[in-house]
Amino acid sequence: METSRIPGFYNMTVDERLKLLKELQLCTDEDMESLKTSEPLTTETADNMIENVIGTFQLPLGLGLNFLINEKEYVIPMAIEEASVVASASHIAKIVREAGGFTTEATDRIMIGQIQVVACPDFHEAKETLLRAKESLIKAANDAYPSIVRRGGGAEDLDVRIINEKTGSKYSQMLVMHLYINTCDAMGANIINTMVESIAPIVEDLTKGKVYLRILSNYADKCLARAKCVIPPELLKTGEFSGEEVRDGVIHAFEFAASDPYRAVTHNKGIMNGIDPVVIATGNDWRAVEAGAHAYASRHGSYTSMTNWWIDKQGNLVGELELPMSIGIVGGATRVHPLAKFSLGILKVESAKELSQIIVAVGLAQNLGALKALATDGIQKGHMALHSRSVAIAAGATGEMIDIIANQLIEQKEIRVGKAKELVEQYTK
Ligand code: NDP
Repeated sequence: METSRIPGFYNMTVDERLKLLKELQLCTDEDMESLKTSEPLTTETADNMIENVIGTFQLPLGLGLNFLINEKEYVIPMAIEEASVVASASHIAKIVREAGGFTTEATDRIMIGQIQVVACPDFHEAKETLLRAKESLIKAANDAYPSIVRRGGGAEDLDVRIINEKTGSKYSQMLVMHLYINTCDAMGANIINTMVESIAPIVEDLTKGKVYLRILSNYADKCLARAKCVIPPELLKTGEFSGEEVRDGVIHAFEFAASDPYRAVTHNKGIMNGIDPVVIATGNDWRAVEAGAHAYASRHGSYTSMTNWWIDKQGNLVGELELPMSIGIVGGATRVHPLAKFSLGILKVESAKELSQIIVAVGLAQNLGALKALATDGIQKGHMALHSRSVAIAAGATGEMIDIIANQLIEQKEIRVGKAKELVEQYTK
């Protein structure tokens, strides 16, 4: 059953959408209550999450539709304030499903804990000693967090590097130990930090140096997720543009980002437009994902496109995205924020690995949405029409006035707050 295709969803009222989700068994009465209440995350819960709480800050929560990933249907919650992102993701997902859907995969969820050691009398001797003690260090780390071992994870390996060996400064010379930890379905920050802190005294003893930092690395390059799509050109036809023209335009746009960091940053921001909303909606740490993703985009020495696009022998447009994905389906806010619980429920994900693959598929869809628009009508046409409602609200429109003013802005091809203020004044005279 095509459960992620919900024709007409866009034109329904919020109440109609919720009713339909319930009929489709994608949401329960409890979820509906959470979604409709003005304060899904109560101030009381928020006060237990961070410090100095004075309230909560809301974002629109929309649904990305039409996603078919590894032959499974997904309705994808996206929390974002920017117009046209959800529409664009759903539009591309519809095209990709016609082509068979996204295929995705993920590595094991190996995260990295770092221990910094300075002032070793002999850095090379220290490194060899740590490597010789590998098994006992891994055991000590696992003894500090036995529950993750019982879940099938835990510390699995370690590595040691000497940094700035040739420089004379006592501050810049250091030995860095990486502990590789399988965090199962958690992002794992607390698991990792507990482990590296607990073995730091042993590391200090073995190296005869002094340990300073003991913390996870957000450059999670051993916890990767990949998404791919292969699209025949005929599915890309848009208005006056043939499928081949759109495909070639996408390749030109990609090559620009691949070669120029000024373009790559904007190109990648568009990818994160798809990724962050899912990371946020599921209660995950989007700063961690952002930091890891941008670092990964520089892994070959200069900052470049996170995605790869090419034309295969059959003339299909092929796109691929691989990123570190330090997210979880347990821990952090994932089970604390009621809407994060709802989001994980509607996604029906069974593991962090599965969630990470969905997230990169949305990122890939979002990238194609932007490149396709840029290669055809330009980004403003679709975006400004969707943005017009926000402009009307910013100019003071309320209730039914919002749609009236938004439509006038579109008709007059002047989607800006100054114009909207004039129209609001005329309307209220
Ligand atoms: P938590 O410590 O909240 O939760 C992880 C715990 O969940 C595990 O230790 C485990 O405990 C339990 N658990 C239950 N089921 C599973 C399962 N299937 N797989 C794995 N664990 C399971 O969260 P994290 O350690 O993931 O930390 C994430 C939080 O840390 C985020 O909020 C992040 O913002 C924050 N953070 C991020 C940092 C960074 O990115 N640099 C730094 C510090 C914090 P048990 O086995 O005992 O039940």
